[in-house]
Amino acid sequence: MLPFKLVYSEKYFLPIGEHVFRADKYRMIREWLLQQHVADESDFIVPQPASENDVLLVHSPHYVSKLLEGGLSAREELEMEIPYSPQIIDAFMLHTGGSILAAERALQDGVGINIGGGFHHAFPEHGEGFCMINDFAVAIRVMQQRKLIGRAMTVDCDVHQGNGTAFIFGNAARKPDRLPSWSAAVLGAQESVNMTEAPSKDVFTISLHQENNYPFIKPPSSIDVNLRDGCTDSEYLAWLDNVLSSGLRQFQPELICYVAGADPFREDQLGGLNLTMEGLKRRDELVFRAARAHDIPVMVTLAGGYARRIEDTVAIHANTVLVAVEVYQPAPGKSHTA
Ligand SMILES: [Zn+2]
Repeated sequence: MLPFKLVYSEKYFLPIGEHVFRADKYRMIREWLLQQHVADESDFIVPQPASENDVLLVHSPHYVSKLLEGGLSAREELEMEIPYSPQIIDAFMLHTGGSILAAERALQDGVGINIGGGFHHAFPEHGEGFCMINDFAVAIRVMQQRKLIGRAMTVDCDVHQGNGTAFIFGNAARKPDRLPSWSAAVLGAQESVNMTEAPSKDVFTISLHQENNYPFIKPPSSIDVNLRDGCTDSEYLAWLDNVLSSGLRQFQPELICYVAGADPFREDQLGGLNLTMEGLKRRDELVFRAARAHDIPVMVTLAGGYARRIEDTVAIHANTVLVAVEVYQPAPGKSHTA
């Protein structure tokens, strides 16, 4: 049995038809983990859907009612790049419930992995880029509302910048808009305060992503690393090591939310970085070891992954679980690997 839980539901499947986003990956990851004897049935737990009130901690009432009642405009639906249906909303509510459960379990067990979620392009008032509800932003807000945590950090390693997340948590921490009557000196002072304000925010956001890729407007995260096209394992890992050290020096989170996108992979159809499968495992290991060294619980969500071969996307996500087992397995000598 694993020292942590894997959160999964067969209803994570998103009904989006033939699509570059293979929504059957969730089921295939679970099968991979069982077949390779990394996990057994008892390691999986099934989430409940998030409640409307949970989702309203991040998203606006107007947007949530449009999602739940089917009132999106054609343009709003187009921006999502996946077709709207009541069933897809049920699936997103379930992924969000899964991230809430993974966060709860992380606080108990040190790690909690949602075999789903990571919909970091969803904003408070709109969805885009295959994302309708920002599941892990909701999970963080729910943990804060229940007073289980005060501060959280997101570490987003999807190849695409976490624009929705940066906007949600950047906005929430922003001071009231400046008044036009403020003098330049006051504005200057305000500016420099904002520049160093990151440590006092309640959610610190880190994003490592390909600069020349979607989203083309990138709202600022607490730390953004804009990687060049074709970035290799060694460059990527050096940056990640650097920002984890720097982030954890500036800010002491009570929960890390790791967004473990599989799309920095060199064979990804929507990514332009050059990471190998081995490099991605080392990436996962860096995040888990940093969290463990600082004694900070980690919840994991999967986010994107569009490799030419679906088997590669599945293996990259499953490897994240495998690496967590290696880092968190209490007793040495007992190997779960096949
Ligand atoms: Zn992505």
